[in-house]
Amino acid sequence: MASSDVIKNYIDGEWRDSVSGTRIEVDDPASAETIAVVAEAGPEDVELAVAAAHRVFRDRVLIDMHPYDRGRMLFRVADALEARVDEIAVINCAETGKALELANSEVQTAIRYLRYYGGLADKLEGRSIPRGANLVDYTVRSPFGVSAQIVPWNGPLELTARSLACAIATGNSVVVKSPELAPLSGVELARACETAGLPAGAVNILTGYGQTAGQALIEHPDVRHIVFTGSMTTGQTVLKTAADRIVPCIMELGGKSAAVVYSDADLDCVVEAVRIGTFLNAGQNCNNLTRLIVERSIADELVERVKVCVEGLSVGPGRENCEITPLISQKQRQAVERACQTALSEGARLVTGGTALEGNGYFMAATVFASVARGSSLFQKEVFGPVLAVTTFDDPPMAVDLANDTDYGLAAGVFTRDIDRALWTADRLSAGQVYVNGWYVGGVETPFGGVKQSGYGREKGQEALDGYVQTRNVGIQLSQPSSGN
Ligand code: NAD
Repeated sequence: MASSDVIKNYIDGEWRDSVSGTRIEVDDPASAETIAVVAEAGPEDVELAVAAAHRVFRDRVLIDMHPYDRGRMLFRVADALEARVDEIAVINCAETGKALELANSEVQTAIRYLRYYGGLADKLEGRSIPRGANLVDYTVRSPFGVSAQIVPWNGPLELTARSLACAIATGNSVVVKSPELAPLSGVELARACETAGLPAGAVNILTGYGQTAGQALIEHPDVRHIVFTGSMTTGQTVLKTAADRIVPCIMELGGKSAAVVYSDADLDCVVEAVRIGTFLNAGQNCNNLTRLIVERSIADELVERVKVCVEGLSVGPGRENCEITPLISQKQRQAVERACQTALSEGARLVTGGTALEGNGYFMAATVFASVARGSSLFQKEVFGPVLAVTTFDDPPMAVDLANDTDYGLAAGVFTRDIDRALWTADRLSAGQVYVNGWYVGGVETPFGGVKQSGYGREKGQEALDGYVQTRNVGIQLSQPSSGN
């Protein structure tokens, strides 16, 4: 391939080939064909990117800007994306395999994050602390410095946009390590930053593998802040590395989110929640609905209704807006199939699906298991595929106990027509976000993040900005003017 066809990394305001000259091929998950080749960033490229970002921070390029102007830069990045929404949605759909409509809404969400945090850039205020006549005391909410941001492939544009926007709004500079399986959306965001005229080095976006580029980035001595979005296992590696230099981290990890369904629930509403919550993007969402905890008296009816819905879902490529789209890779599909085999061997009852689908691309049948036992792997471990586990309960305390009985705690839900029961349950679910009578009932402006091993720190909403600043307190000793002179 001619080097002009290779997509480069965005470092210090320029498009650069990788120092090593090595490449990463990007597949279309619906056909398994290569759709693009990107320059593989390694430790040398990371070095250049961090040096640029560090220079921007050291020279106070963003910090000394009026916060309103930092916000306006983010608005311009949003405008640049908005001018190409359809084109970028096609790219996002092709590299992730998700439905085009979903890819389109990912671009729209990225735009909203940029505008939301752009609008908040001049609203993050410190405090003045009264300490008597001889002292003036105030706080400043200061950026950390170079923020390293590691992104997974399932929402590569919106997940990059949300962290990048918070960092720039607060005066940090950014180095993003895009996901090797879906790096093209990050390239489009870099193009938008270039069009928006961001100062060179304020945002750098590279593609490389986690164990080389990602690891070099989080180990870099000039990185002062890490935002990691990805699996629990990689998150543990990131935290161990960060511990060596006491680097603060925002950790957005996996989930095993449960919905508690009481017998008085609107079952149409539950089935619709399963359709979007479990099967959108082939179940590859961190906060997808993976476990239904159902009151025993309605379990058979609900499982039957879910089965009818699931078996009616269209299967095919994202560009045709099918409902069951492919998994990201062959490796991911094999892992999901293995999880299904383990579920069977552990005694779960297969209601539908359970196997990979024939043909090109990485398709997996939409799958439902019933009678899933509490201690089983399917109940406990994140699958990250189109697989639902159904377990029954007898009373509300048992429902909450089952819902909370995993190491994760990203999202949870409750379905009931009884408001008292809804609030009682919502209060007791261990999760960063709780949905009542729906799924994905959160948005750009609502704080999102995990409890337990789903991570800590919050993204989305105003609260996210707290993770990108640290408080500096300034105390001023005054001398009282001498009287009578
Ligand atoms: P992953 O952990 O395998 O990879 C995530 C990112 O980390 C990738 O960019 C990868 O290259 C990088 N990486 C890998 N090893 C690294 C290392 N040693 N140092 C630095 N970076 C390294 O996860 P994935 O398979 O890409 O994504 C799926 C996971 O992400 C799921 O567990 C999902 O739940 C989670 N996720 C969480 C959220 C959230 O907001 N909580 C959002 C989306 C996805």
